[in-house]
Amino acid sequence: MKLAKRVTVLSPSSTLAITAKANEMKRQGIDVVSFGAGEPDFNTPLHIIEAAEKAMREGKTKYTATAGIPELLQAICDKYEKEYGVTYNTKQAIVTNGGKHALYNLFMALLDPGDEVIVPIPYWVSYPEMVKVADGVPVYIEGKEDNQFKITAEQVKEAITPRTRALIINSPSNPTGSIYSRKELEEIVDVCLSNNVLMVSDEIYEKLIYDGHEHVTVASLSKEAYENTIIVNGMSKPYSMTGWRMGYALGNEKLIRAMVDLSSHSTSNPTSFSQYGALAALTGPQEPLEMMKTEFVKRRDRVVELLNDIEGITCLKPEGAFYVFPNVKQAIEKQGYANVDEWSKALLEQQKVALIPGSGFGASENIRISYATSMEQLEKGIARIKQFVEGTN
Ligand SMILES: *Cc1c(COP(=O)(O)O)cnc(C)c1O
Repeated sequence: MKLAKRVTVLSPSSTLAITAKANEMKRQGIDVVSFGAGEPDFNTPLHIIEAAEKAMREGKTKYTATAGIPELLQAICDKYEKEYGVTYNTKQAIVTNGGKHALYNLFMALLDPGDEVIVPIPYWVSYPEMVKVADGVPVYIEGKEDNQFKITAEQVKEAITPRTRALIINSPSNPTGSIYSRKELEEIVDVCLSNNVLMVSDEIYEKLIYDGHEHVTVASLSKEAYENTIIVNGMSKPYSMTGWRMGYALGNEKLIRAMVDLSSHSTSNPTSFSQYGALAALTGPQEPLEMMKTEFVKRRDRVVELLNDIEGITCLKPEGAFYVFPNVKQAIEKQGYANVDEWSKALLEQQKVALIPGSGFGASENIRISYATSMEQLEKGIARIKQFVEGTN
């Protein structure tokens, strides 16, 4: 079967490959500790489930407007107004089948063949692939570990060409958990604005920020920044609603309308009753989120401490999201593995710990560990990693 070029340029997801192997081992009854999860391990809060259930019973099971129900669009606009002082009307908003879908429609609506999108390394696995599917070209700049994996305005400037359309900003970041300060963003915004580069701000981890740090949305930095930013966000991470497929985007009306047009001929509206759940999530009690955060902080602190106690591994303490991105270069060399993929594979085979090699995020010296799993599993898994790196087997 001859396939379209569009799909043959896709790289298979390294994340999925290792997860599939871990699941296969689990099926065979092997006690695998899995740090691969990209989703919170808590249930969706009950009041959200009840709101969706009520919607279904009331017959809200039909098509909705493609862009989403007006109440939810308004709640999204209200949230950004209240929390960040940025004003959007509902025509500048779209509800999508997850944040991923918002990003996909965005690149499809924005890029012509050969248009470039600057993608900071380490990147979320889907960014480069989505850009490629939309016939765009990902241009990489590397966030150095000694700058907490963050890129600088200077690097953005150097990467800009006449074909540059957009820069992706993901703060807090998956996979590093790093967050950008107001000052860092101001510098980056300046460069983007003087070069007519759109900022795509993926704010899906915006609520998962610790130690009193604040989230800054680039759209709030100036009127020009507002006009040149598309915000992407969603319910998956803050409200533990990954399976509900609820995301959204806010920004330039013309671009958002093009995204709605794309949806109208592909997915149509996002799931009707999920939207009522999302509405309850945004407008209802926020205590479940606080509980989740408290738990994540405890785990993060413990995980960072335990990892730094392993000879050959160093781990920065991230300020957001639910991942750590330790450097395992010394361990790989000491143990004589060719690269981080081989190292991760051996770890899974020998010590039954599944994690994601950094290569999938463009970083060859690191691994991603998700701490969206119980403290007991975290301690057990990291003890196994210690055994793998320091032990005699
Ligand atoms: C999880 C995630 C998303 C979107 O997930 P959805 O479930 O599609 O909303 C977007 N960006 C990053 C960086 C993520 O980790």
